[in-house]
Amino acid sequence: MQSPQRPLDLATIPAIVEEDGNGLDAVEDSPSSSSSSSSPPAFALATGLVYSTVMMLHSYPTTIVKPSDDHPEAPERISRAFIVLKENGCVKRMKRIQPREITRDEVALVHDKGVWEGVYRSQFYTRSDLAEITALFGERSSLYLNEHTFLSARLSCGGVMELCDAVCSGRIHNGFAIVRPPGHHAEPDKSMGFCLFNNVAVAARWIRQRYGGQDVPKEQRVRKILILDWDVHHGNGTQRAFEEDDDVLYISLHRYDDGEFYPCGTYGASASMGSGKGRGFSVNIPWPCGDMGDGEYIYAFHQVVMPIAAEFGPDLVIISAGFDAAMGDPLGGCDVTPIGYAQMTWMLMGLAKGKVVVALEGGYNIEALALSALAVTRTLLGDPVPSHESLAPACTAAVDVLRLVKRDVAPYWKCIESNPLDPRPDIEDGLTRYSLSELLKAHRQQEIARHFQLSELPAGDRKWDSHALCSSDLMDTPRTVVLFAHDMGSLRAGNERPNLALIPESEGAYIIDSSKVVLDWIQQRRFGIVDVNLYSGSLHGADATDFLEFIWDTYLDLCPATDIVLFAHAGAAKSVLSLISSRRLDKDSRVISTCLTMGHEAVPMVPKDEVDLRKWYIKNGRVFLPETHSWWSQDDDKRRKMKRAGKVVSVAERRPIQVLTAALGEVAAFVDARLAAKQEIVA
Ligand SMILES: [Zn+2]
Repeated sequence: MQSPQRPLDLATIPAIVEEDGNGLDAVEDSPSSSSSSSSPPAFALATGLVYSTVMMLHSYPTTIVKPSDDHPEAPERISRAFIVLKENGCVKRMKRIQPREITRDEVALVHDKGVWEGVYRSQFYTRSDLAEITALFGERSSLYLNEHTFLSARLSCGGVMELCDAVCSGRIHNGFAIVRPPGHHAEPDKSMGFCLFNNVAVAARWIRQRYGGQDVPKEQRVRKILILDWDVHHGNGTQRAFEEDDDVLYISLHRYDDGEFYPCGTYGASASMGSGKGRGFSVNIPWPCGDMGDGEYIYAFHQVVMPIAAEFGPDLVIISAGFDAAMGDPLGGCDVTPIGYAQMTWMLMGLAKGKVVVALEGGYNIEALALSALAVTRTLLGDPVPSHESLAPACTAAVDVLRLVKRDVAPYWKCIESNPLDPRPDIEDGLTRYSLSELLKAHRQQEIARHFQLSELPAGDRKWDSHALCSSDLMDTPRTVVLFAHDMGSLRAGNERPNLALIPESEGAYIIDSSKVVLDWIQQRRFGIVDVNLYSGSLHGADATDFLEFIWDTYLDLCPATDIVLFAHAGAAKSVLSLISSRRLDKDSRVISTCLTMGHEAVPMVPKDEVDLRKWYIKNGRVFLPETHSWWSQDDDKRRKMKRAGKVVSVAERRPIQVLTAALGEVAAFVDARLAAKQEIVA
């Protein structure tokens, strides 16, 4: 099949004036027709730029009722990035590399015949056909097509290829391809997720074919390629293309949300590591939720990305650079700043003798995309790399994920040492195991019960046994009762960095149990105690909120308490908030206050639509956060969240356990004030 040579109607190209004219004319460099082993010309060590307004022709078919600018993958994504680079003097410092239309044979390096043909045929459809097909695709595969899609998709892919070629041949040092449509979701057998051809995967295969042979001079030879994908979505297409390949290392940082985040399913999980000889050469860092920012990404780079990348020793680095993890992106919900992107770029430039190609993928806040692209470009150009005044530490959720990733990839990479406390199935077969948290919980339960003369609360279900204690007269004596919910079995309790928590070789390792100071206070005030340990590691999969609801329904709701104080620490806070909401405790006049002492974990919030509950919670609640918590930054988005979390108080400590002890005085004063206020009303 011959590809059609239709004359290009320049009048339809969006009117974006480039440096040297419009569209394809604005180029200086020649395409890769020259021999790959020719000696580098005079402008070696420059930074390359691929951009063409022709790639803006692919747009949402306008006969569809939905206006074209409604679709997030809009043509202006690339023009805005180009304009911002130009306004900041970058474009004139870069060597323009001409994108070319990729051929059918080149697409076949990665994709089945049907993928090429599907996109090829789209140029012959009428507008109304295209609208109909798009409506169908949009539902099924998140795709749209117009009569220019074939051309734009070929240029997008060909642009990344030409840039890689220019870098590998030594004509330029590194470069940025501002291209669309994006590529990383396109799988070998299907286009999907705004992606037609997998630009980066095709380029990687093509480069290896072109530069991998013995005949290529050693300094230009490319055997091993690292594809680092920081788009907020998992690059399922790219991982699939190199699933069984040990010459291409694919590392992706993306939102996973338990398999609920696009492209959904378990392929983006940390346990999905490639297969056959490619086992271990796909590394997924799956964030469990949004809000991941520079602290989390840079932590992941230090812990996993850079050690593995360095051990792999790539000859070329390609960054699948979606900017939808950027702060303000409508789809990503994450917080990476231009500084974060610059720093990640800079770290990657330390690999492969600096041969780095950046290829645009997603990114749907056009300004955030452009500013992030600017920061990356300046870094490629060798400008001073911006740095944070002080980088917020990675949140607990991210630290936990990195620990899991390290456990999974440790067998394949010498540089990654799994936590010595992680289970080792290979040496445990048939032996009895006691988890440390289990032993700690049992010991604490015994010790606390003896010291404070508490009784165990019968839990009604074996899996909940030994998790709750109470004053022995709870059901007889009318007085104020404090429900203290915590996760003291957790090994992380005393540490900011759980993966450094314990060195088992050390005889002196210990866990601090700061719950005693809380129980001391409760007993001194002659309040009743209900102590509930909600550490998930020892609940054996039982739901912490179900357990708390059981405690409420069976004991607290029926006991003769005059007033009830809810006090939750760290990991237990979420279940306490759920209890308030499910049992409508705002309507229970006995419940006088809620206090949460937190570390760096996500702060639970009252549901948006529960207006009454929220009012009650803000009046009667206090949340104590370490002064290093990311919410204390000046970011508007975080401020909004903080409002929803109730009255938040900063504590001059870093570790969650110190927050608990440091906040106790304020908690006590707040509880006394609530009690006094209630007495006034009664009087
Ligand atoms: Zn994306």
